[in-house]
Amino acid sequence: MSDILSLARPEIVALKAYSHASWDPAFDRLHANELPWRAETDRSIAGLNRYPEPHPRALAQRLAELYGVNAAQLLPGRGSDESIDLVVRGFCRAGVDNVIICPPTFGMYAVAARIQGAEVREVPLLSGDFSLDSAAVLAACDASTRVVFLCSPNNPTGNAMDSAAVQQVLVALAGKALVVVDEAYIEFSGDASLTQSLARFPNLVVLRTLSKAFGLAGARVGSLIAAPEIVALLAKVIPPYSIPQLTIEAVLTTLMPPQLAVQRERVAQVRAERERVCAALTPKKSLRRLWPSVTNFLLADFADAEVTLAAARDAKLLIRDMRNVSPHSLRISVGTPEQNDRLIRSLA
Ligand code: PMP
Repeated sequence: MSDILSLARPEIVALKAYSHASWDPAFDRLHANELPWRAETDRSIAGLNRYPEPHPRALAQRLAELYGVNAAQLLPGRGSDESIDLVVRGFCRAGVDNVIICPPTFGMYAVAARIQGAEVREVPLLSGDFSLDSAAVLAACDASTRVVFLCSPNNPTGNAMDSAAVQQVLVALAGKALVVVDEAYIEFSGDASLTQSLARFPNLVVLRTLSKAFGLAGARVGSLIAAPEIVALLAKVIPPYSIPQLTIEAVLTTLMPPQLAVQRERVAQVRAERERVCAALTPKKSLRRLWPSVTNFLLADFADAEVTLAAARDAKLLIRDMRNVSPHSLRISVGTPEQNDRLIRSLA
């Protein structure tokens, strides 16, 4: 067994994968108890009367090309939410193991860990600039730590972690724990992905998603990118047929070169709008503090967050209440220029 699999739950390592009906489009399918006719409204390419491919190879191959890795290093799932769940289910023994999270951060790491029965240890980001406290993360780890979740750029603070600090954690935990780096917002930062460092860090798991920069949140597609042993292990845990046929078709068409060019322009537009909204908010009297962001959202503290939330609602805009993070904080996603103008006017 490779070193990294010695960290996984032994029963998952020993698990025999579900044996699904064979999948070969060259044959007529009289082996999977499907209806032989499409629904009349079915406009899909393959037909929704048929199960999708159990582990969709063309999708994994296309996503691997997009992220510059090998298909064996990538497991597609229903959004990064599912990838997070798979990691804790594959690696954390209920009532025994623990995970580390660095709040304020994305809420699903703790939820997934608690569903699995793993202890959640919190090592807050440093106050002042929300940077990673790598020494405190390492101090919080013990022999039962299986996963450290790092979100970079981080939701909801909008900043990227210092890559030297992330690497320090990866090196110190080599052979001891997985380090999951969630890069959901990396396209908006322009920074290089850690996927390029997978060969150096066998304990690294990178999460990417099509929900943000690729405009496919409704399709639900994320990619777990890691050493092939980790991918093969978690492929036994993810249910077969988990990615719906409509989603597979939507992704393959959305990732064609002309659409990718449009997507790059939209990311550039979001970045420009982010800076425009920042400049317009800065002089507002109601604003106390605007945190620097490399993402498609802004974390801002307002003198009276309740008033700001109400003003946005009056302008038919939802912004996110983050007062659980700090007493005056709200999170604002960058919208279209018209939506951003409406937000700016609402804060007049
Ligand atoms: N990671 C982070 C940091 C997020 O903010 C989100 C969504 N808000 C997710 C993961 C979930 O992404 P997906 O839509 O791919 O499940």
